[in-house]
Amino acid sequence: AGGHVVVVGGGYGGATVSKYLRMWSNGSVNVTLIERNTDFISCPISNLVIGGVKEMKDITVSYDNLKSKWGVRVLTDEVVGLDPAKRTVTTAKNGVITYDRVVLSPGIDFMFGAIEGLAGNEALIPHAWKAGPQTALLRQQLQDMKDGGVFAIQIPKAPYRCPPGPYERACVVANYLRQAKPKSKVLVLDANGEIQSKKPLFTKAFESYKGMIEYRPNSEIRSVDAKSRTAELEFDKVQADVLNIIPPMRAGDIATRSGLPLVNDRWVDIDWLTYEAKGVPGVHVIGDALFPAPTMPKSGHMANQHGKVVAAAIINLLAGEPPNPNPVVMNTCYSFVDAKNVIHVASVHQYDAEKKQPMPVAGAGGVSVAANEIEGKYALAWAQNIWADMLA
Ligand code: FAD
Repeated sequence: AGGHVVVVGGGYGGATVSKYLRMWSNGSVNVTLIERNTDFISCPISNLVIGGVKEMKDITVSYDNLKSKWGVRVLTDEVVGLDPAKRTVTTAKNGVITYDRVVLSPGIDFMFGAIEGLAGNEALIPHAWKAGPQTALLRQQLQDMKDGGVFAIQIPKAPYRCPPGPYERACVVANYLRQAKPKSKVLVLDANGEIQSKKPLFTKAFESYKGMIEYRPNSEIRSVDAKSRTAELEFDKVQADVLNIIPPMRAGDIATRSGLPLVNDRWVDIDWLTYEAKGVPGVHVIGDALFPAPTMPKSGHMANQHGKVVAAAIINLLAGEPPNPNPVVMNTCYSFVDAKNVIHVASVHQYDAEKKQPMPVAGAGGVSVAANEIEGKYALAWAQNIWADMLA
């Protein structure tokens, strides 16, 4: 097909689209992937690092195969500007780069300002909602916590990255504390009115910790005193020993400040056949940054699927052909409820030509009957397989 595609962000979406563009075009499309981090570090499985079951090295994968095996030009750099009219991106270190098409998969950025006192205090109050130093920091804080301490986690209002992720975190932290510091407590402060994913299964999992986990719905933190780790809610005040606030979030900065159409000022509005931002030809957006179709989660699995749909669409478009009129994507999210037992939720989403967006396929998905160890093995295999699919 020929042409040059720039990919911004080498996470679940960006790494996938880079590899598949090279693979499916038999190397005829040139791909430049620009990622600010030197290695890929996975959010999926990072809760197990926080819970002391896995280590940082277990969730870290290099970009070497993308370079040497697939011929992707990988730049460790930051994209600071996008000009859709000139078809250029501006980088911090490598100047201005021109493209025929650009794919943005920048993930999310946080709205720290939504909670008074939070901005600039990430070292005291980690979010650990981007894997890396924040993951290691939250793990360290839990290790340093006294027996009898309180770990409090704030879940932002939906939509946010990984609907089941915070509940999984509460469970694996409780699993660690149950063994290492059994007098401690896990307080789940949910800004939502109820558990956002696999509710009956997580309710059961919380109960299995016999009072160690306390779940509080409609509990949105308004302000925080970082030094004393005190959070103010509407009617309540909570003092914690480890305070893990996942702030409200929106599409990654490069997507929100480049003049693309946004829904609720947060997520990019796209055309679901090409994943181009509506009215902005040549700028494709995938992964957590886009405004999701009905029931479509913000997940790594989903970002990987978006990456494949867009790789196929771009190869067609570069060859002057229309994109596939009927793309299908699917998702599976596994959640650990302790070190070994896992629950899943799965769904399939098929493009609906009338609604002009993917719709969930009735009867195609489902959830686990109960937490079990076999799915624990599947969950770890899922991670190895998707990392290989993206990066090997
Ligand atoms: P990311 O994977 O975050 O990739 C974005 C990349 O872009 C980053 O590497 C970032 O450094 C880079 N970047 C951003 N802006 C720039 C710029 N301007 N210049 C250069 N680089 C830039 N999903 C699942 O499917 N299953 C799970 O079990 C699961 N568990 C999770 C557990 C936790 C604790 C968390 C936090 C998330 C979990 N997720 C899970 C969700 C999953 O991590 C995200 O949905 C997924 O990472 C989204 O992919 P993405 O490509 O949109 O963003």
